[in-house]
Amino acid sequence: MKTAVFSTKPYDAKFLVAANTNAAHEFSFYEEKLSAHTARLAEGHSAVCAFVNDALNARVLDILHSHNVRMITLRCAGFNQVDLRYASTLGIKVAHVPAYSPYAVAEFALTLIMALNRRIHRAYNRVRDSNFSIDGLLGFDIHGKIVGVIGTGKIGRVFAGLFSGFGTKILGYDLHQTPEFTEIGGKYVELDTLFAESDIISLHCPLTPQTFHLIDAESIAKMKKGIMIINTSRGALVDASAVIEGLKSEQIGSLGLDVYEQEADLFYENLSERIIQDDVLQRLVTFPNVIVTSHQAYFTDTALENISSTTIGNLTAFENGEALVNEVTLSMLH
Ligand code: NAD
Repeated sequence: MKTAVFSTKPYDAKFLVAANTNAAHEFSFYEEKLSAHTARLAEGHSAVCAFVNDALNARVLDILHSHNVRMITLRCAGFNQVDLRYASTLGIKVAHVPAYSPYAVAEFALTLIMALNRRIHRAYNRVRDSNFSIDGLLGFDIHGKIVGVIGTGKIGRVFAGLFSGFGTKILGYDLHQTPEFTEIGGKYVELDTLFAESDIISLHCPLTPQTFHLIDAESIAKMKKGIMIINTSRGALVDASAVIEGLKSEQIGSLGLDVYEQEADLFYENLSERIIQDDVLQRLVTFPNVIVTSHQAYFTDTALENISSTTIGNLTAFENGEALVNEVTLSMLH
C-alpha cells in the first residue's frame, strides 16, 4: 500500500525498509512533521504513518481525507495526538503499536533515576574538566526507599519489576488495578497516599483529560520534601512551570524528564545553532538536579524492530481487509 511516512529520521526508514519484506508496501519518506502545512504530501497515498509529535487534529484529518487517505498507522503506543472522534466520523482507521518494548522505556526511567541520584551527569563533566572533587555528588541508597508508580500498565509493571530487585517498597496507583502488579510486590494505594509516601515518583499513565498536569503545584505540595519525579510518559502530565517553582523551593529534590509539554517543535532536531525561544525549557536545564532528554526512552534496536514489524502488519491487515488487531478505537478513550 502506498504510505506517506512523516517525521522520518534515517533510523525510521532503515528499520521500516528492513521489515518491509518483499517490498509489500511502497513508502514515501518525509522528514517533515505532519501538520496542516505538510499534510498535502500525503496526496496519492492510501495510508499515513505518523509519530508522537505529528498533529492529527481535525484540520489535518480533513486534508488527509480529501486526499483519500483511509488509514493512519502510528509508530508509537500513545495516541493523544489524534482526534480519534473526528477520524472516526471521517471513516479513517487508526492503528498503533500497543507494545513494542516496555523494557526500553522502563529501563530508561530506571537509568534517569540512577543518574540523577548519583549525579552521573555532573560527575562525567567534572572528571573531563580534571575536577576530581565529589563534593555535591552525594546520593542516597535506593534500597529501603518507597517508589510510586502512576500507571501500572505494561511499562509501569516492568518498571516495578526492576525495582523489586532493589529492596524498595513499591506503591502503585491506576484506574484499573491488575493482579500482576501486586504479584511483583506492588501495593495499590490512593493517589494522595502515593504522593505523600513516595521518595521517587515515576509516571507511566497515558495523557488524557484526567491526567493533564497531574503533577502541578497542588500535587507537588502533597509530596515529601526532596521528592524525585520521573516522567517518561507524556510531557503534558507535568506542569513545567509548577515543577520549576518546586525545584526553586527545593520541595522537588530532582527531576528526570524524557518528555516535555512543548517538545513538538524542539525534540528530535539538532537546534544547537539556534536561539531557543522556550524560556521554560531553558530554565529547566539550568538546574543541576534536572536531566532532560529528548523523548528517547523508546529508542532501542529491539523497540525499533518491533515498531517497524507491527507497522507493516497494520498496513497489510488494512490493505487485505483483515481484522485490524491494533486499531485504536473510541472505546480506548478514557
Ligand atoms: P498501558 O496502556 O499498558 O498502561 C497505561 C496504564 O495507565 C493503564 O494501566 C491505565 O489503566 C493507566 N491509566 C490510565 N489513566 C490513568 C489515570 N488517570 N490515572 C492512573 N493510571 C491511569 O501503556 P504503556 O505501554 O505502559 O505506556 C504508558 C505510557 O508510556 C504511554 O501512554 C505513553 O504515553 C508512554 N510512552 C512513552 C515512551 C517514550 O519513549 N518516552 C514510549 C512508549 C510509551
